[in-house]
Amino acid sequence: MLQGKTAVITGSTSGIGLGIAHRLAQEGVNIVLNGFGDRAAIDAVQKHIATTYDVDVVYNGADVSKVHEIEALFTDAIEKFGSVDILVNNAGIQHVAPVEEMPVEKWDAIIAINLSSSFHTIRLAVPAMKKAGWGRIVNIASAHALSASPFKSAYVAAKHGIAGLTKTVALELAEHKITCNALCPGYVLTDLVEGQIADTAKARNISKEDVVKNVMLSAQPTKEFVTIEQVSEFTAYLCSDSARSITGAMLSIDGGWSAK
Ligand code: NAD
Repeated sequence: MLQGKTAVITGSTSGIGLGIAHRLAQEGVNIVLNGFGDRAAIDAVQKHIATTYDVDVVYNGADVSKVHEIEALFTDAIEKFGSVDILVNNAGIQHVAPVEEMPVEKWDAIIAINLSSSFHTIRLAVPAMKKAGWGRIVNIASAHALSASPFKSAYVAAKHGIAGLTKTVALELAEHKITCNALCPGYVLTDLVEGQIADTAKARNISKEDVVKNVMLSAQPTKEFVTIEQVSEFTAYLCSDSARSITGAMLSIDGGWSAK
C-alpha cells in the first residue's frame, strides 16, 4: 500500500529518524534523508537503504532551523519524486539547564528546530498531499509533550507546541484523507539521550549512573528504554491504511510514564 510513495524524514541521519527511514523503506517508500553528520557515513547509509530495500533514497542536508533551507528541501523533493506523501517531523535537539541559566540562543534554536520547522515542513507538504488526496504526517513529539520535567524549559515548551500544531493540522485536513498525529516516546537510548545523561548529572550534581537509574528510568514504570524499532514500527502503522481513522492523536509509547 505504501509502495512507491515518498517520505521526507527530518533528522534521519541517526537515532529514531534513521530507524524510521529503514522501516518505511522496507514498505517500498522512497526516502528523503535529512540531518547532519559525516558525509561519507551519510553516503554509505543512503546507499545501504537504497540497495537493501530497492527504493530511491536522496539526501538533503537542510538545516531545519533555516526556513529557506527547508523550502529548498521541498522544492528538490517534489522535483525529484513528484510529491511528498509522508512527512515525519523528527529533527530535534535538547539542552538541559535551570530556566534562569538557559542560554537564549539554545532557547531560540530549540524552538526553531523542535517546533517551527514542523510548521514549515507541514505548510510545504500539504498542497501536494491535498492534490494527491492522501497524506500522512507523523510528528515525533515526546512524553514531554504531555508533561514536564525540570531543567528542560525550551524542550518541554517546544514539544507542548507540537501537540497544539498536531491537533490543529489534523482538524484542518480531516476531510482530505490526510492524518496528522504525534508520537510521544519516553526515553530512547540515542545520541540525544547520551548527551542528556552528562548534562543532567551536572545540573543535578549526581553521577551518570544515578541519572539513568533514578531520573530517566524512574519515570518509566517498565524500567526499560523504549527502542528505536518500537517507535519505527508505530510510525509505519500510522502510515498504513488501517490507521486512517487515527488523527489528531497524542500517542504515548513510554513504558507507562504518562499513566502516573
Ligand atoms: P538524535 O540526536 O540521534 O537525532 C537527531 C537528528 O536530528 C539527527 O539526525 C541530527 O543530525 C538531526 N538534526 C539536529 N539538528 C538539526 C537541524 N538543525 N537540521 C536538520 N537536522 C537536525 O536524537 P533522537 O533521540 O533520535 O531524537 C529524534 C527525535 O525524537 C527528536 O525530536 C527528539 O526530541 C525525539 N525524542 C527522543 C527521545 C529519546 O529519548 N531519544 C524521546 C522522546 C522524543
